[in-house]
Formats: sequence, structure tokens, C-alpha cells
Amino acid sequence: MKVLVINAGSSSLKFTLFDMSNGAEQVIASGLVERVGTDKPNLIYKRPDGFKQEESPKVQNHGDALKAVCAKLCDPEVGVLKNLSEVTAIGHRVLHGGEKITMPVKVDKGVKDIIRECFPLGPLHNPANLMGIEACEEIFAGVPNVAVFDTQFHQTMPPEAYLYAIPYEYYEKHGIRKYGFHGTSHHFVTDSTAEFLGKKVEDLNIITCHLGNGCSMAAIKNGKVIDTTMGLTPLEGLMMGTRSGDMDPAAVVRMVELGSTAKEVDTILNKKSGLFGVAGIGTGDMRDIQAAALEGKGRADLALKMFVRRVVKYIGAYYVLVGAPEALVFTGGIGENSKEIRQMIVDAIGCLGIRIDAEKNNVRGKKCVVSTADSKWKAIIMPTNEELMIARNTLEVLGIK
Ligand code: ADP
Repeated sequence: MKVLVINAGSSSLKFTLFDMSNGAEQVIASGLVERVGTDKPNLIYKRPDGFKQEESPKVQNHGDALKAVCAKLCDPEVGVLKNLSEVTAIGHRVLHGGEKITMPVKVDKGVKDIIRECFPLGPLHNPANLMGIEACEEIFAGVPNVAVFDTQFHQTMPPEAYLYAIPYEYYEKHGIRKYGFHGTSHHFVTDSTAEFLGKKVEDLNIITCHLGNGCSMAAIKNGKVIDTTMGLTPLEGLMMGTRSGDMDPAAVVRMVELGSTAKEVDTILNKKSGLFGVAGIGTGDMRDIQAAALEGKGRADLALKMFVRRVVKYIGAYYVLVGAPEALVFTGGIGENSKEIRQMIVDAIGCLGIRIDAEKNNVRGKKCVVSTADSKWKAIIMPTNEELMIARNTLEVLGIK
């Protein structure tokens, strides 16, 4: 039984094909088409045996991109399928489901209408996500599509967590509130941590830290999100690779008064801020920032300290909200791989009765406890796998075992 997972971005289409037969959960092919709609599109096709191919197909839109991917998957020489009818179901990552979507859903007209209604909330992603779905409906006629939303896992937050303290009609009329993102990742690591600790999810109290290019945290009480750092859009909360995270909204007003248009400020806060904006070394990639900090380049050291401080502040807040959680969970490219960042964070929260075990922490991308045995609660690395979560959700929604 094969499940195709599609993540359609504004100019890209990522895919992962899983064999889900008998709980196998194996990737059989993956890759992406990038720069869709430009004169230099690029298709990368990979198999888990290490085979990798790159080419530049003629691709003008997401439909063409999907056709190019399907041609690769069924290619007699390098493909992994005899024909497309081997695909049982397709799971789609969709950014925004607003308030109406609280769980993964089988795509029908009503679901597509909701994705469309949420275009103003996810102007770059939702239209692309819908294009990905419609391309699949055309090419894989009769194969069910399931939408898994980045926002849905956070829909358990109470109003006191998700409302902004602005006139209530902005929420009622325009849906301006905190929604939260990276939900699929927070959900996956929550389920995996419960399994790892041998607990039922509904008894699990943890803080999850997804630290990648985009960064977000969630306070999980009894297996459910009660608060999260990202907001109306993925800009709120932690400092990220190129995103500012929290700041005084009056600073935005001031930036507009200083002469930038609202759109320009939006670009500055999303693409030119965060580690990139502060460090001043031309990158927001954490590996480069850490290396530059060691060499004393630019303001990389300051950017690192700011990054860690934000995470630490939210841990303090969520520790209280959750009520003495049992684990602090690190995931995402930085959370899984950077022993230095994990150490800096855990060192800074020593007053909460937790210490890093330097030896155990000396790992990358491996599910394990990295705090000392005498810590009052645990620090854990839990590698995320959003694509697999989408594949699992897809089969669950369709009732396929
Ligand atoms: P995305 O949010 O785009 O999915 P990832 O979760 O892959 O991104 O995270 C990318 C980030 O992880 C980058 O900042 C990268 O530098 C960082 N990263 C990956 N490996 C390491 C490492 N060994 N040490 C520090 N940072 C790392």
C-alpha cells in the first residue's frame, strides 16, 4: 500500500512516496520540483538506496510539476512504480485551516472551499496547497486526497491563549487570532515522546521545541496544545533564521512611518530579520552562525544569545502553564543536531531542576534523553517526520489499516 505525500509551496512541489504496507512506513522515493513557473525549474529525484537524479523539465505550473514527478516515479529505468494506480491515497500538507479544521480531512468541495476561505490567512501557501490538490485530482483520478493542516493540532488552545488583546471585532470579523503552525511536527513528536516514555498521550505533559529555519514551541498538557509561540502567521514567537519573532507592534508602525510600505516591512520581518538580520554575516543558517560566533565574526555571538534567550523565556512561561512538565523535547534541524544550542538552553534553565549530560548530549538526530539522571524532568531529542505523520493521518482518515 503506497501513500504519496505532497507539500506544494508557492514555487515548489515536494513529494515523498511511502510504502505503508504492514506498518512498513518506508520511504521509497522522494524529492522536489523547485522554481516552478520560472525559466529554470529543477527536479530532484531521490531513492533511499542513494540514487539521485537532477534535471530541468519544462514546468510552468504545479500540474506540470506533478506530471514530471509522476513520470519519474513510473520511469522504467529509475522509477519505483509500474503505474500510478499503485498509489492508494495522497496526503497534502496545507498551511492554514482557520478555525473550522481541527483534524485531518478527506478532500471534498467543502474542504477546498475552506482552504480557499483561508487564502487571506495564508496568502503564499494556501493557494499553492490547493493547486497541488487539484493537480492530484486530475492526474490521480479516483484516488482519495487527504488534507493535513499545519494549524490543526493547535486548535485545542483556549481563547485566553489564542486571542490578541485588540478590539474583539478583529477576531469576529477577520479571524485575527493566534493559530499556531508546525502542528504536524508538534503532533508527531508528542506522539513519539509518549511512546518513548511509555506513557499514554493523554497523560503527557511536555514542552516541544521545533527549532529549524522556522522555530516554534508548544505547551502540551494532557497530550493537547494549550499554547504555542507562532500566531496569526508563522512570524510570531521565537527568533528564527530570517524571521523576527515577537516584537512590539508599535515598532512595525514606526518602520512604516520611516518610509517602508506595509509589504516591504512584511518582507523585512519575514526574510531579512532573525539570525540573518542581527548577525550581519549574510546568512541565517544556524551552522554558519555558530561557526561565525566562534570566529568572532559580525554579531553572530549576539544573535546566538538572542536566539537562546527567546527559547528560554518561553520555556519559563510554558513550564508554569503546563505545570511542571515531564520533558523538554527538542526537534527540527537545530534541535536535533546542535548539541551546543541544546546545552546553552538547558544550562540557562538550571533553576528548573534540569541539567544537560554532556556525554549523552553529544549526538545528532537520535531519539534519546540528554539530561542527567538526577534531573527533575527530562530533556529529550525527538527527530520529527512531518511527511510520515501526514502519511499516517491519510490512512487513518480513510480508515485504511
Ligand atoms: P526547515 O525549518 O526548513 O525544515 P530544518 O528543520 O532542516 O529546516 O532546520 C534547518 C536549520 O537546522 C538550519 O539553521 C541549519 O543550520 C540547522 N542545522 C542543521 N544541522 C545542524 C548542526 N549540526 N548544527 C547546528 N545547526 C544545524
